[in-house]
Amino acid sequence: MDLEFTTEQVMFKDMAKEFAIREVQPYVKQWDRDCKMPHEVFKKLGEQGLLGIKAPVEYGGLDLDWLTLGLVTEQLAYYDFSLGMGSCSRTSLGIMPIAQNGSAEQKKKYLPGMIQGVLTHCFATVEPDAGSDAMAIKTTAVLDGDEYVINGNKTWITNANLANYAMVVCQTDKSKGSKGLAVIIVDWGTPGFSRAPIENKMAFRHHDHGQLFFRDCRVPKTNQLGGFGMRAAFSNVEHTRFGIACAAVGAIQACLDLSVKYCQERIQFKKPIGSFQLVQEKIADMVIDLEASRWIAYRLGYLKDKNVNVAKETSIGKYHNMEALSRCAKAAVELHGSYGLSDEYPLERIYRDCMAPIIYGGTAHVHKLVLGRLELGIDSVSR
Ligand SMILES: Cc1cc2nc3c(=O)[nH]c(=O)nc-3n(C[C@H](O)[C@H](O)[C@H](O)COP(=O)(O)OP(=O)(O)OC[C@H]3O[C@@H](n4cnc5c(N)ncnc54)[C@H](O)[C@@H]3O)c2cc1C
Repeated sequence: MDLEFTTEQVMFKDMAKEFAIREVQPYVKQWDRDCKMPHEVFKKLGEQGLLGIKAPVEYGGLDLDWLTLGLVTEQLAYYDFSLGMGSCSRTSLGIMPIAQNGSAEQKKKYLPGMIQGVLTHCFATVEPDAGSDAMAIKTTAVLDGDEYVINGNKTWITNANLANYAMVVCQTDKSKGSKGLAVIIVDWGTPGFSRAPIENKMAFRHHDHGQLFFRDCRVPKTNQLGGFGMRAAFSNVEHTRFGIACAAVGAIQACLDLSVKYCQERIQFKKPIGSFQLVQEKIADMVIDLEASRWIAYRLGYLKDKNVNVAKETSIGKYHNMEALSRCAKAAVELHGSYGLSDEYPLERIYRDCMAPIIYGGTAHVHKLVLGRLELGIDSVSR
């Protein structure tokens, strides 16, 4: 594995850092307090080319490598974990499903706007009774002539209330089990499609999450995205898990940097608290978590760019880096004493925010089950 970044990778990393210092750091505390952020941030990310990193050139993208996207995600997440994820998910679950599985017409309709940050997607799998068990989804899409008729509810969907279009995972034929799954695009404004926000959240407070409702919602058959089955429905979720692993690295680095500074400056018992061995142990643990997480994430990006199967590495990255972040965020809040609880420092926000991607993108338990299955050859949840 070549550990040197290319000039281009360094350029994008620096560009993302400058963007975050200018457009995110001064405002993120207020966004979190207000539970909303200006949507123009995504337009500005688009203007810098930061939303088109993996998108095809012919639609305005840059068609670069996964590692570049990972480095950009890490830099944004250093200042706002949730924005790092929001930005990365536009690629992983907004652009990639269409770039990889979409028809020429779908690509033309959605990709340029997504790359520019003027269109917003949502990708809807989860339902009130189907979370980790995605096969339990009840939303149906039944063919009637040249149209699909969609019925069902989705919940906890990122961008539910902002999306110009929803990619909805539906069951087209229950008797076919996983082979009947399909993703169907539903534009906002289609009769029978409504939505509602989920409010008062612990984490990712300035991002939109909500419920989607489909009642005899008719869309042309040509709105189907790709074919049928698990791969057609979920292959892009893997890219989001890579983003989570990279975003965690940025947030851990922030926890460490803030803690080092504070422990050098805060005086107790007439000494900087950083001189106490128990405090040094916490810093040492954070350094180890950071280094391990960083190499797991970068290696995952490197392997993704080699187009090899990364199921195992993706689950390791998603699981390990989020657990590491949750340890580091807790340690950083603790090291700041009572100040760690105040939003004058970003730590309490990182501490809260890290709970969101511990749950989405497959829970910690689910990724352990994946790793167990890959190693043992036994599926613990086979039906
Ligand atoms: C901020 C946020 C954004 C989200 N965005 C989206 C989105 O854009 N699109 C979308 O479709 N969904 C989205 N989700 C939903 C998310 O994917 C689900 O919350 C997640 O898959 C877990 O499902 P659940 O919440 O129903 O928990 P459940 O599946 O009910 O799990 C509850 C607990 O049981 C455990 N558990 C379940 N099954 C097993 C098992 N077999 N063995 C051991 N433990 C098990 C879980 O690990 C967990 O601890 C989002 C969620 C959040 C929090």
